[in-house]
Amino acid sequence: MTLSMPIPGHIDPVPVPRAATPRPDGRIDLLGLSKLELRMALETAQLEPKQAKLRAKQLWHWIYNRGVTDFSLMTDISKTMQPWLAARFAISRPEVVEAQVSTDGTRKWLLRAPDGEEYEAVFIPDADRGTLCVSSQVGCTLNCRFCHTGTMRLVRNLTAAEIVGQVMLARDALGEWPSTPEGRMLTNIVMMGMGEPLYNFDAVKDALGIVMDGDGLALSKRRITLSTSGVVPMMARAGAEIGVNLAVSLHGVTKEIRDEIVPLNRKYGIEQLLQACADYPGANNARRITFEYVMLKDKNDSDADAHELVRLLKHYDLPAKVNLIPFNPWPGAAYETSTPERVRRFSDIVFEAGISAPVRTPRGRDIDAACGQLKTASEKKSRAELDRLAEEKQAALG
Ligand code: SAH
Ligand code: SF4
Repeated sequence: MTLSMPIPGHIDPVPVPRAATPRPDGRIDLLGLSKLELRMALETAQLEPKQAKLRAKQLWHWIYNRGVTDFSLMTDISKTMQPWLAARFAISRPEVVEAQVSTDGTRKWLLRAPDGEEYEAVFIPDADRGTLCVSSQVGCTLNCRFCHTGTMRLVRNLTAAEIVGQVMLARDALGEWPSTPEGRMLTNIVMMGMGEPLYNFDAVKDALGIVMDGDGLALSKRRITLSTSGVVPMMARAGAEIGVNLAVSLHGVTKEIRDEIVPLNRKYGIEQLLQACADYPGANNARRITFEYVMLKDKNDSDADAHELVRLLKHYDLPAKVNLIPFNPWPGAAYETSTPERVRRFSDIVFEAGISAPVRTPRGRDIDAACGQLKTASEKKSRAELDRLAEEKQAALG
């Protein structure tokens, strides 16, 4: 949900996309604006272009390197300038509805946008790194049969501010300001939360641009992975314009099975998808493409499936690794998890063919933070609300 706003430029007014949802206090939220947009926001507030340029640079550092949200703490900005900024601008964080911690250390935040929509972010600590799983949409339109998020009816794109906000919030919670490369807990980002990132290309691109900016959060593109269920027409652009690592949710190796479990396959088939992977810029043996494969009992987990997976990856000559994800169940799901023996056997077959195929241990299952379990209660509430309204209507009619 970005809208275009004409910003007065020096030569020609150019439409610059900016985040929607005005604040009730009328101040402009600086979070999620690009460097140019930040400068333009200051110019629009009548700051001289030269001043605006300098202040934008300072603000960028305070916001993204130091994590500061209070203008009065910005020590290199004059005491008269600070209240001027505070009267016009704000630096927000997503509103936290609930923060949960799993027995295995995984953390999940339930977040609420100003319009009441809810989304989630998950932090997964490991011995040598920490990964933040970021959402790109509220819900998801793609309806993969094994994914809880796909059952949400409410769907909207998150804004760049809402996407970057998840990273800022995690940094706050982990106490990781200022942004120094040493000793960070949050080292990696995966676009694997709620939603299909390539259906929200612009906001995801803008947000990751901010996350990767060297003067701010400064996460390397090698530590960021974008996962897609296979939006083929956007994959080349993702490689060229965002340039992060690619993960592809394959999950099936035949048309019949993939059509069933990942309905998008009916639009963009396996061959098309794997060709787009082969063409993905920057993929090589040092930067391999990850193929995610959720293990569903008696559905996609046979020896024959494993052999066909190997054949396909070799046929397209893909620098690939395979992530085997045991299915995480949720109430009402139509599938079961493959047995551990089956998962191991499948993994062995792929490994024996020379392709790495680790089994992913589910994390944060006890707080519904594992892959595919993300689904916010706001949707349940809204459904309950709808039911109640329907009942009232019935009662009124009856
Ligand atoms: N929409 C994107 C990214 C989010 S999903 C995509 O589909 O790639 C992140 C990963 O979790 C995907 O590989 C997804 O298929 C997988 N997943 C979804 N539901 C799951 C479940 N119930 N158990 C295990 N993995 C699941
Ligand atoms: Fe959407 Fe990914 Fe879930 Fe499929 S697996 S419904 S694309 S979030």
